[in-house]
Amino acid sequence: MNHVPTGTPSADVSFAGARPLRVGVFGGAFDPPHWAHRALAEAALSQLGLDVLHILPTGQAWHKSRVLTPATHRQAMCALAFGDLPFTRIDAREIERQGPSYTADTLRELATEYPGAQLFLVLGADQLLAFKSWVRWPEVLAQATLAVANRAVNIGADGALDQVQEMDLSGVDLPFERLQMPLKNISATAVRAHIERPVSRSGALDVLVPEAVAGYISHNHLYQNHS
Ligand code: ATP
Repeated sequence: MNHVPTGTPSADVSFAGARPLRVGVFGGAFDPPHWAHRALAEAALSQLGLDVLHILPTGQAWHKSRVLTPATHRQAMCALAFGDLPFTRIDAREIERQGPSYTADTLRELATEYPGAQLFLVLGADQLLAFKSWVRWPEVLAQATLAVANRAVNIGADGALDQVQEMDLSGVDLPFERLQMPLKNISATAVRAHIERPVSRSGALDVLVPEAVAGYISHNHLYQNHS
């Protein structure tokens, strides 16, 4: 397997007992990982009763037009953002795979590695709304239960951070489980934009990302010429 185990070293997932293993799958660009990603991982671990959560930084994101930060940095930041969570593995398979990252391929591999397991695909609401644009989405749906946390959208005319509401999922005609999580109005786009403003580089980045990630970004001068 290509993943790098992190978290509780003694978490041997082969001793989960008679019930099917519950395996979480949380993919993203993580460019960079921020507090909402971390909250989503924690919600999935506790509310789904996962035996293991694979965190998968994407390789080539077929659905994002911008060029991503080199995968080594995103993988390192994931280790810093999630590494202390129990039962969590930073899984580099999509980075190491040739070609675009398709979740259907990843789920197929994980289903082979964990025979008989129940797979949960952890998503934010924006990704649920875009789900039917995913490559081979019916296959994804057949392989995994969708576990979805809502996501904030700005409603203030001036983009005021406190004027937010939940995304409307009432029209979604797909089966999914809800993850309860306080709305967090954070996106990686906003984090990158924040860092690009020189005056805020030394500012309170750890409001947006875990402190170790903020240190890594600063040390490696990431996102300073964000476009
Ligand atoms: P970008 O702003 O660059 O598009 P992002 O903040 O959406 O990035 P991704 O790495 O693309 O971050 O997201 C990975 C997963 O985390 C997706 O399923 C996304 O829906 C979810 N997610 C990201 N931010 C939030 C948030 N604030 N609330 C709930 N889910 C989120």
